[in-house]
Amino acid sequence: MTIFEKIVAGEIPADIVHEDDLCLAFRDVNPQAPTHILIIPKKCIARIGEALPEDQALLGHLLLTAGKIADDLELNNPEQGFRLVINNGKNGGESVPHLHIHLLAGRSLEWPPG
Ligand code: AMP
Repeated sequence: MTIFEKIVAGEIPADIVHEDDLCLAFRDVNPQAPTHILIIPKKCIARIGEALPEDQALLGHLLLTAGKIADDLELNNPEQGFRLVINNGKNGGESVPHLHIHLLAGRSLEWPPG
């Protein structure tokens, strides 16, 4: 069981900002920006590269939820802005094998990423 499955199960605490039938969003314990939220499906998909065609609606829901959270936090405007990131595999920087979208905001983010 991954640490994110334990958060979904309520076995370990998290600073939850959104929950619905399909997904959970909580603040990253090691934030890389003033706002750093992880949006995860309750269903365990290890990583985006292992998502299946049947996950299409769920993946869309995760992205729409990220946008809704950005709205709620008043980040969804040209002055603020935000970035969504999905790390996949070793070179992608993945450390938890449970799909998650990083929502980063609150500072100017560099491009290309490190
Ligand atoms: P990644 O490196 O893309 O797999 O991202 C995993 C993220 O999960 C990292 O940013 C970690 O800081 C974060 N993380 C790990 N454990 C927890 C936890 N218990 N609660 C919140 N965030 C966590």
